Amino acid sequence: MTEMLTATGGPALPQSRRVVTAIPGPKSQALMARRKAAVADGVGGTMPVFVEHAGGGVVVDVDGNSFIDLASGIAVTTVGISEPRVVSAVQEQAAAFTHTCFMVVPYAGYVEVCEALNRLTPGTHAKKTALFNSGAEAVENAVKVARRHTRRQAVVVFEHAYHGRTNLTMALTAKNAPYKDGFGPFAPEVYRVQTSYPFRDGKDGATAAREALLKIEKEIGATNVAAILIEPIMGEGGFIVPAPGFLPALREFCDANGIVFIADEVQTGIARTGAWFACEHEGVVPDLITIAKGVAGGLPLSAVTGRAEIMDGIHTSGLGGTYGGNPLACAAALAVIETIEADGLLGRATEIEALLRGRLVGIAGEAGGRIADIRGRGAMIAIELVKPGTTEPDPQAVSAVVAHCHANGVLVITAGTYGNVLRFLPPLSISDELLNEAMDILGEGFATLR
Ligand SMILES: *Cc1c(COP(=O)(O)O)cnc(C)c1O
Repeated sequence: MTEMLTATGGPALPQSRRVVTAIPGPKSQALMARRKAAVADGVGGTMPVFVEHAGGGVVVDVDGNSFIDLASGIAVTTVGISEPRVVSAVQEQAAAFTHTCFMVVPYAGYVEVCEALNRLTPGTHAKKTALFNSGAEAVENAVKVARRHTRRQAVVVFEHAYHGRTNLTMALTAKNAPYKDGFGPFAPEVYRVQTSYPFRDGKDGATAAREALLKIEKEIGATNVAAILIEPIMGEGGFIVPAPGFLPALREFCDANGIVFIADEVQTGIARTGAWFACEHEGVVPDLITIAKGVAGGLPLSAVTGRAEIMDGIHTSGLGGTYGGNPLACAAALAVIETIEADGLLGRATEIEALLRGRLVGIAGEAGGRIADIRGRGAMIAIELVKPGTTEPDPQAVSAVVAHCHANGVLVITAGTYGNVLRFLPPLSISDELLNEAMDILGEGFATLR
């Protein structure tokens, strides 16, 4: 067991899995009843337990059960929940000032976050950044910037894409239920083309790109396209890593046709894949990058970073928002970036990939052909489940394995257009011991299916 330290240097949460009640325990059950009465049903839920403390690689519930965290609050607490540097930075900032609105009285933290993101994003060109609150808000603003710059309207998105839940980002998102069902009309001038999904399309990157680009040329017209918007690894869509060459071919097409290439790195960015940004694995330099989730250790912050001449195409006050780049969130982001650099977390993400892949190959070997694909990069790894001997998605098997994990103190979440993907997004602060223990429980979960 590794001891964690709190911001004040004292001992914190024991890093161990512990199940001391049925899941959910009595205190969580009481809170679930109050939730049911008070919280709108439309707000989804994965776990029926309520958190009391969390940090390192564990989440401890109000009944004293300690779960191994393989979710990081959906790829947000990459440096760990309540990482000590983040906690003290936020505490100090809260005591100094909580808010002035950057557009009313500016503060250095906002500028420092922009400087850091300009430095860390791919490419040596001049860059500028604007800060917002959520991933969806960053995507909306990136589209605004691209349309203003190109004076064009069409936005190209991909099958299996997820970009958020606001009106424009619902239109950009592929999957109907639960994200879009009954919520139309959706924003116009959004066009969807096929992505590269090696497990299901069996195509190399160049072929998949040629087909997608032909569709863009024939059905939209390259000169009408403001932006091509893509997640370098599809997140909610099931951690789909495009075949090598797919992203570079899109990048080339954008260059040849004056189209803004936007990488939505909301889930893949900020060390998650073992690089600061997932585009780097393919040597692709986007014109604009959207950043959120992992950037501020759990505080709400998002950003659009991109070519200075494109970002500056927007008139004064064309970008902004009351809370965008809130001082607490900026203080947290600076502490996150410092932590990743000081603790060598890019390398840690790569180590986690090796551990998870090794264990998952072993589990797949014993799972009777149910695990058809193991994919992802860094600490962003998923398995796709099918009915043995087919490529037919098996969401029921996913549900059964997830239920086993939850009942036994392992917090896992799902993904995928077909609901048949189990995804692993551990915090980079988790120990190898906890990861191995979680994989033991996962293996047991597959054994229950036989
Ligand atoms: C989560 C996510 C979003 C939306 O972010 P919110 O903060 O939930 O609005 C957008 N794009 C990608 C790739 C995401 O994973």
